[in-house]
Amino acid sequence: MTGFLTEASRLSMLSGFENLWNPVGFALSIPLHLLPESWRLFLVHFFWRVHLYLVLFTLASLPYGKFGHIPFGVANIFFRNLGPKGAFRPVDIENSEVYGVGQVEHFTWKQLLDLEACVRCGRCQARCPAYNTGKTLSPKKVIQDLRAHWVAKAPYLRKGQAEAFEEPMIEGGGVSHEDIWACTTCRHCMETCPMQIEHVDKIVDMRRYLVLMEGQMPQELVTLNRNLENNFNPWGVGWSARNDWMTRRKVSPRILTEEENPEFEVLLWVGCAGAYDDRYQRVVASVCKLLDRAGVSYGVLGTQEKCCGDPARASGNEYLYQTLVAENIAAMDALGVKKILATCPHCLKTLSKEYPQFGGNYEVVHHTQFLLELLGQGRLKPVRPMPAKLTFHDSCYLSRYADIVAEPRRLLGAVEGIELAEMPRHGTENFCCGAGGGRMWMEEEGTRINNVRAEEAVATGAGVIGAACPFCLTMLSDGVKAQKKEEEVQVLDIAEILDRVTA
Ligand code: SF4
Ligand code: SF4
Repeated sequence: MTGFLTEASRLSMLSGFENLWNPVGFALSIPLHLLPESWRLFLVHFFWRVHLYLVLFTLASLPYGKFGHIPFGVANIFFRNLGPKGAFRPVDIENSEVYGVGQVEHFTWKQLLDLEACVRCGRCQARCPAYNTGKTLSPKKVIQDLRAHWVAKAPYLRKGQAEAFEEPMIEGGGVSHEDIWACTTCRHCMETCPMQIEHVDKIVDMRRYLVLMEGQMPQELVTLNRNLENNFNPWGVGWSARNDWMTRRKVSPRILTEEENPEFEVLLWVGCAGAYDDRYQRVVASVCKLLDRAGVSYGVLGTQEKCCGDPARASGNEYLYQTLVAENIAAMDALGVKKILATCPHCLKTLSKEYPQFGGNYEVVHHTQFLLELLGQGRLKPVRPMPAKLTFHDSCYLSRYADIVAEPRRLLGAVEGIELAEMPRHGTENFCCGAGGGRMWMEEEGTRINNVRAEEAVATGAGVIGAACPFCLTMLSDGVKAQKKEEEVQVLDIAEILDRVTA
C-alpha cells in the first residue's frame, strides 16, 4: 500500500500519458492534484521514507516471525548439497576431535540452516515408514526438536558458555536413541521435503557420535560390527567360506587374482548376501547364468571381496566402514577394475557414490541396468513366456538413491505373459521394506514395516512380487509368510525371472 501511495504522490508531480502505465498509482494521484505543489512534494518524500522503513523493518523481522522460513528456505535450497545423491559425508578419522554430532554446535552451518528452513508441512512425516508403523521417530519432529534445542542453547554459545547449558541434545533435546536407531535411511523424507532438508545425514551423524564417541548402540549392532571386523560380512560366517556359494549353486565365475588376471568386461560384485544368504545365492547364480548366456567376460574377487561397508556406515561405524573401503579399493585397483556390476542396491550406492570419496573411481551399474543393456543388444533373448500377474517392489536404494525406476519395469515388459499390477506406492513414492540403515540386523518392535509392505503387495492380487535387492527380497518373503500367503505368492528377483525365460 505504501508503494502505491509513494507512486501516487510521485505521479501527482508529473503529467503525460506515461502515467497510465501505473494505473493504480495514477488513479490514486488524481485527488492529489487538488493540493498545492509544495504539499505534493512533501508527500513524495514522506511516503517514500515510510515505504523504505517499512520494507527494511519487514526484512529485518522476517527471521523472528512466522514467515521466517522464507529467507532461510530460499537460502537452504540455494546451498543444497549438489554432490552425489545420498552419499554420506566422510569423517576425517585422523584429524577430527569429535566424530559425528552429539551437541547441536557440532552440526555444520548448512545443517543448522536446515533447521531454520522447516515450514512444518509434515510431508516428511507422512511418508516416513517408521512413523507410519507407530515408531516414535518423526523426521519433522526431529527437525523441530533440534531447532528448539538450538534456539535454547544459542545464547550460551554466543557467550562461549556452552558447558553452562546442561540439557543434552540426544534424549534431553527431544531426539531419543529410539528415534535415531529407528530410521531405515529410506530417504523418503528428504525427497519429499519442499525445503530440501537433509534428515538422514543428521540421523547418521548422531549415530556416528553414539557409536564412535560413546560406544552406545543396540546390542544387535555390536554383533554386526564384530562380524564385519572378524569375517568381513554382517552374518559372521567365516570369511574363507566366501566362495562356497559357487559350488552350492553350481556356477563357476572366474575368480580374479593378480597372477590370473586376464582382460574382463566387468567385475561382478557378489555382495555379502550373494555369498552367504541362501536365498540370494540363487539370485547371483541366476545373474552368472545370464552373463554366461550373453557371452559377457566377467570375474569376481572371491575371498578378496569384503562387505562394501554400507551397514557399518549407515549404522554409524565410520571407522570400520573406511577400513573395509580401503581394503576393497586396494584389491580392485590391483586387478585394474574399471566397471562393476552390483546386484545389491546398497552396494551400488556405496561403490558408485561413496568409494570416490576415498579414491575408488569405477563405473558401477546395477544388474537391472546391465541386463536391460544385454537385452537391448540382443545378447539375451526372452524365448519363453511367463504367465503371471506381478507387482514390482522398488528398493529405496534403487528408486530414491539411484533414480532406477524404469529399468526393472522395462525388463519385465520384455517378458511375454507378465501382467504388471503396480502397488499404490511405487517408483520414487515406494514404501520401504524396513531393512535399510542397518535395520536389517535389528529387532523391530510393534507393527513391522515389511509386513505393511507385503500386505500392500498381496492386495494387488499378484502371484509374484518382483524385487531387485537382497534386503527387500528377504523382508518381503518374511512379510508374505507372516500373512501365510507363501503358497500363493512367490517373491522373485528380476534376474531369476529373466533366467527362467531367456536363452
Ligand atoms: S517436509 Fe521438510 S519442511 Fe516439511 S515438515 Fe518435513 S522437514 Fe519440515
Ligand atoms: S529416511 Fe525414511 S525412515 Fe528415516 S526418517 Fe526419513 S522417512 Fe523416516
